[in-house]
Amino acid sequence: DSLNQSLSELRDIEVSFEFFPPSNEKMENMLWKSVERLAPLQPNYMSVTYGANSGERDKTHNVVKRIQNDIGIPAVPHLTCVDAQPDELRQIAKEYWANGIRRIVALRGDLPPGMDKPDMYASDLVTLLKDVADFDISVAAYPEKHPEAPNDQFDLLNLKRKAEAGANEAITQFFFDTTHYLRFRDRAAAAGIDIDIVPGILPVTNYQTLVKFAGFTNVHVPNWLHKMYDGLDDSDQTTRNLLAANIAMDQVKVLAREGVKHFHFYTLNRSELSYAICHMLGARPSN
Ligand code: FAD
Repeated sequence: DSLNQSLSELRDIEVSFEFFPPSNEKMENMLWKSVERLAPLQPNYMSVTYGANSGERDKTHNVVKRIQNDIGIPAVPHLTCVDAQPDELRQIAKEYWANGIRRIVALRGDLPPGMDKPDMYASDLVTLLKDVADFDISVAAYPEKHPEAPNDQFDLLNLKRKAEAGANEAITQFFFDTTHYLRFRDRAAAAGIDIDIVPGILPVTNYQTLVKFAGFTNVHVPNWLHKMYDGLDDSDQTTRNLLAANIAMDQVKVLAREGVKHFHFYTLNRSELSYAICHMLGARPSN
């Protein structure tokens, strides 16, 4: 069909993969197995999320260094500013730069309980990082609006501020209605935001967890998705993975046809689904 036809014509697809720091030995093994499986696809970068407490933070640094130095893929740390001092952030950035890190995902982070107004927003962090060194900077974007933003336009202007502060890429929150992403991309362009808006792709392997997570991230779970998973709670993982792959593949096919060249995968530290989807998009291991 025409979708498959247009896919076979794809040449220059770029991908990136997101991981989170492991919390125990089993998770650690799973992470490195996945990193090694996905590395030959030559992603633009592998990014590593940043946790809310300091133990988690060291883990991010360690995973990033190993991806960069041992795996040989550009590693991109996420960094949040909501509960950190500017001096501390500058110090972390300097160390990253000295270790060869050239891109950072700059985020505000979720507000800790009891805080209703942060000292710094992500746009302030972008300014701070650019002041330390000439990093490439990715920021977060929300096709369905960040939950705290009063309206769509306010949130879009926030993305514009982040771009004007020096971000050169935005990665979106995950979404299921592809039209949300496409409309958002159009609105961003109309607002004069000229940075790449990279869709964040989440292959859904656990529907119940997704529903909970979607609730506090303001992501709409369409009825068709609910119907697809209805009755599969007790089913085996392979069956659910097949469904997840099918849904995500439909999504990336539409996005590729709409001109998207770079896809960011929320791997959840697993490789199979992301690998299969990348393969379908034309990514092949380099020799
Ligand atoms: P901001 O861009 O600062 O926006 C936050 C809210 O404040 C928005 O509603 C915005 O409209 C509003 N706002 C901005 N400026 C102002 C202003 N001057 N006055 C009033 N309101 C304002 N979280 C983690 O803890 N660790 C991670 O590793 C992590 N990785 C992520 C990766 C991606 C791709 C995405 C999409 C999210 C990630 N998050 C992560 C979650 C993120 O930290 C939260 O969504 C957080 O609530 C907002 O972060 P932000 O960078 O989008 O904030």
